[in-house]
Amino acid sequence: MERSTIVRVHEGLHARPATRFVKLAKGFESDVELVKDGKAVSAKSSVKLMLLAVKENQEVTVRANGADAIEAIEALIGYLENPRAGLDDEAEPQSPANDAGQEVLPAALAESAPAVLGRANGLRGVAASEGFAIGPAFAHFPPDIAGQGRLLQAEEIAGEIDRFRAAVSAVQSRMDHALAQDSLSAGDRGIVAALRDIAADDSLTGEAEGLIKGGNDAVSAVITAASNIAAEFSAVDDHYLNARADDVHAVGRQICLVLLGQDDVSLENIPEGAILIADDIGAWDLARAPLKRIGGVVCGHGGATSHIAIIARSHGIPAVLGLGGQVNALRTARDVALDGNAGHVIIDPDEATRADFAGRVEAAAKERAGLTIFKTVTPKLADGRIIEVAANIGSLEEIEAAQEAGAMGIGLFRTELLFMRHMHLPSEDMQAETYAALAKAFAPYPVIVRTLDIGGDKPIAGIEFPDEENPFLGWRGIRMCLDRPDIFKRQLRALLRAAVHGNIKVMLPMVSDLSEVRQTRVLVDECTAELKAEGVPHATFDLGVMIETPAAVLIAPTLAKEVAFFSIGTNDLTQYIMAADRLNPTVAKLNDVTNPAVMSAIEMTAKAGVAAGIMVGMCGEAAGRPDLIATFVKMGLTELSMSPASIQRAKKAIMAMAAEG
Ligand code: PEP
Ligand code: MG
Repeated sequence: MERSTIVRVHEGLHARPATRFVKLAKGFESDVELVKDGKAVSAKSSVKLMLLAVKENQEVTVRANGADAIEAIEALIGYLENPRAGLDDEAEPQSPANDAGQEVLPAALAESAPAVLGRANGLRGVAASEGFAIGPAFAHFPPDIAGQGRLLQAEEIAGEIDRFRAAVSAVQSRMDHALAQDSLSAGDRGIVAALRDIAADDSLTGEAEGLIKGGNDAVSAVITAASNIAAEFSAVDDHYLNARADDVHAVGRQICLVLLGQDDVSLENIPEGAILIADDIGAWDLARAPLKRIGGVVCGHGGATSHIAIIARSHGIPAVLGLGGQVNALRTARDVALDGNAGHVIIDPDEATRADFAGRVEAAAKERAGLTIFKTVTPKLADGRIIEVAANIGSLEEIEAAQEAGAMGIGLFRTELLFMRHMHLPSEDMQAETYAALAKAFAPYPVIVRTLDIGGDKPIAGIEFPDEENPFLGWRGIRMCLDRPDIFKRQLRALLRAAVHGNIKVMLPMVSDLSEVRQTRVLVDECTAELKAEGVPHATFDLGVMIETPAAVLIAPTLAKEVAFFSIGTNDLTQYIMAADRLNPTVAKLNDVTNPAVMSAIEMTAKAGVAAGIMVGMCGEAAGRPDLIATFVKMGLTELSMSPASIQRAKKAIMAMAAEG
């Protein structure tokens, strides 16, 4: 028997919900399948469920066959329709997908000067966790694991299956033991829990057992099964699921090591300040490693959204990942210098480079210590004007870092990550909760939320982007939002709802024409009327625009009459004024905010805003540059928003300027 329904599980059946669904399904004797778009998978395998990529609001069918089929269907449909009902009180570990991803990073990382470009012995990878490090190389290249490569005799098979099952249980209990340790942080706990789920999943164990029954030795069977499942994860068009391929390999490796009676090469003895070098490090290994001692991480595999990157970032360890085969050049390195801002690694640096890096590391530490007194400072000019120094963030996880730094609110909340980290478009409720949490965290300071700024270069699930010759000049930001009122209105409604909880302001990205502001206002009014009619609490918000296109600069006096504030986006403004792609290192020299053309555009914007009496701020990376802050303030800017790491330095620069009078 079967029954269809619309899935109401927030974010769909990804990691944890998939595990919950499986737990429920396993409570029934019947064979149970979940069917989507004609594809049926066992409801008792979380890996298979994840690979089915079921999203919120999609239609699925639950099919059951067995003595308790009716009860199974009732329970599973009940979960899909109302996932919160009847849940045990199992604490929700932080899902790996809820950790900061690459999308938080570009502004913080991409803008920093490529300090080591052009040096000898230099390698380039993915800038996955910011900061500089130099130290002894700790090469972690565990030997490849290989099976026996012979076919088992029929009489050996049962024993091999027993050995395999015992190895799986050993790995599971090791992971359970790790999860029971208080020392594991919430983020790391979520990561280990995701690995444990894979180790416990029938897809991996079932496929491996099938291979053993076919005469493969257990190690070969695990290697093949893990590779097959990892390949399926890699093939899905979803970053989160792609990263699970590494998890499957990591779990497979652990099972193989137990089968072979080997211990993995331990990271226990990594020397203080060493740079960990590996082709691939299992998140499981890294989470258990003495992270405080690790100076930096360099890895052949991994990208900015991999678990290694997430762990490195959350522990403040600089990391360069995704070096591919280049990492082999580091196997015999004695010392390594790495620049996690630019994604550079230098093998056995010469004396000058050593001194340079040692200087950077020391200077960074000294500066950090000396700046903390500015955390609580409210920078005020001689004439009494307060300059708000706010933070740019992209996820709720960064609130603490912003508060710790002394942010006077949020000058740019990039909402892209909210859209990119999920397998589907975020719901209005989920967005409203997120924006409200921000508003509450910083009240009475303002929180400026930027509406979705996305284009074909950063596709997200749920929006079809056309292939474009020049995505940076294409269907992105406010252009896309106005063409998709279904998506845009959901965000605007969420913002109106969140405004009840604090000082929410909203700004529009990529504005190049006044009509874009006017059309947005019409939608905001529509949303307000709808919420009112529905009796949903809501409040108004100030609407501002980012000034990041030359067109916006040129019409700034007109725009200023219709918006509450300007925020200058120097990252894009520089690339558009200079016609120099911000991601293209070949034209990096032109991509310079201090070019007189760009500075003049900033000045024109400031003049227009000041003349109209509206606030002019800046949220591009230039806002955090101590060498430019005085110039911007003199132009009339009263708000500067930057990555949390730059806040105290910026406050210091403003105070110094004020002291000079
Ligand atoms: C900018 O363009 O300056 C900006 C702040 O936005 P983003 O870097 O997200 O494009
Ligand atoms: Mg921009």
